[in-house]
Amino acid sequence: MNTLPEKGMSQAAISDALDAFVKDDIDWQSGRSPLYVFGTDPQAHEVGRDAFFRFYSENALGANRAFPSVKAMQEDVLKKCGALLNAPTSDGGVFTSGGTESIFLATRAARDEGRARKGIGKGGGNIVVPFTAHPAFRKAAESLDIEERRIAVDESGRADPRQMQDAIDDDTLMLAGSAPCFPYGVIDPITELGELAQRFNIWLHVDACVGGYLAPFVRDIGYPVPPFDMGVAGVASLSADLHKYGYCPKPASTLFFSSSKRADRASFKFNEWPCGSFRTPTLVGTRPAGGVAGAWAVLHHLGMQGYRDIATRVMAMRDQYVADIETVPGFGVFGHPDLAIIAFTNAQSNVFQIAALMRERGWLPGLTQEPPALHIMLSLLHETCREQYIEDLRWSTAEVAKNQAAGKAGAKAKVQY
Ligand SMILES: *Cc1c(COP(=O)(O)O)cnc(C)c1O
Repeated sequence: MNTLPEKGMSQAAISDALDAFVKDDIDWQSGRSPLYVFGTDPQAHEVGRDAFFRFYSENALGANRAFPSVKAMQEDVLKKCGALLNAPTSDGGVFTSGGTESIFLATRAARDEGRARKGIGKGGGNIVVPFTAHPAFRKAAESLDIEERRIAVDESGRADPRQMQDAIDDDTLMLAGSAPCFPYGVIDPITELGELAQRFNIWLHVDACVGGYLAPFVRDIGYPVPPFDMGVAGVASLSADLHKYGYCPKPASTLFFSSSKRADRASFKFNEWPCGSFRTPTLVGTRPAGGVAGAWAVLHHLGMQGYRDIATRVMAMRDQYVADIETVPGFGVFGHPDLAIIAFTNAQSNVFQIAALMRERGWLPGLTQEPPALHIMLSLLHETCREQYIEDLRWSTAEVAKNQAAGKAGAKAKVQY
């Protein structure tokens, strides 16, 4: 049927229909998805959900004019999260809908500052990012009419400041590093990138989307974490997603700047339409107030100790996954992941064939193409399924080895995010 039903469906019928839709979804609750959903303890989940739905109808676009509640929660979240990431108090930060929007706004501000300072016209300028940078940088660059230069990383998987330096020219508007990068989970040398940024007077963005709300606590509990935040000299902006390791409901990300002048560049101002002055700090207009309330609630419910406790569990789990994976023939973890993202290669068997078998066993396989590797972003959802995962990985690997020895090709999983 191509039109809506003439007579609306009852709430009960809708509920049944929704249950039917979910039927074929990946069973993320059981840890079957290596990304997309981040698990926290069930109570924190409920607290976030309740707060989200209490502000189901309010619109965060109207935070300043209509909803002082949303404005207050948003400011409070940004102040406390900014302090956690050593952002200067002069800049309030921006609450956005996700990493992609945060990166877009930072890139636009860097472009406008750089073009103005260097006298570069429309369509000019470039940004220099490591090969491992998130596709959001390319999306931003393409949309903002800037060239994006992707530079090879070193053998540890980290950005190589010397090669990045070679790619800088008079038209370079921004450098970026990740903390950590999504593919390998390693933190780029932000201090060295900061030195480069200062030497050449270029904006440096730190993409801490995935690590921003995990790394400070991992450091607190005693793991070595290199400097990566707004406290590093030369960093102009930083993105950190609350809807990842902040365990807050989607959509929720934060963006911080080194000065209020830079923050001001990121905000959109307009007055040439019938209604008069229009100003938004975000790219999107209407946005869910539930995201703001949910973030406020989860952050305050967990508190510093809650985040430290979760970080302790996540890192212990990571260590256990690494140890277990390395008992499966041929597997080794790529590089030395700083946080809870791991990529693991196999020296003997085709990992894309292993991934296809894992898929048949109900696991959504995370993959990287260079090097060919399986990939997981661990959260508490992956705690209880570890033994089953390893068992299935062992079985799939043995199966592929058997097929390879018999000269059979076997199905391959495609890398598609
Ligand atoms: C998730 C992620 C992004 C993009 O964030 P979205 O919230 O999906 O838009 C950017 N960078 C890194 C490193 C990420 O892990």
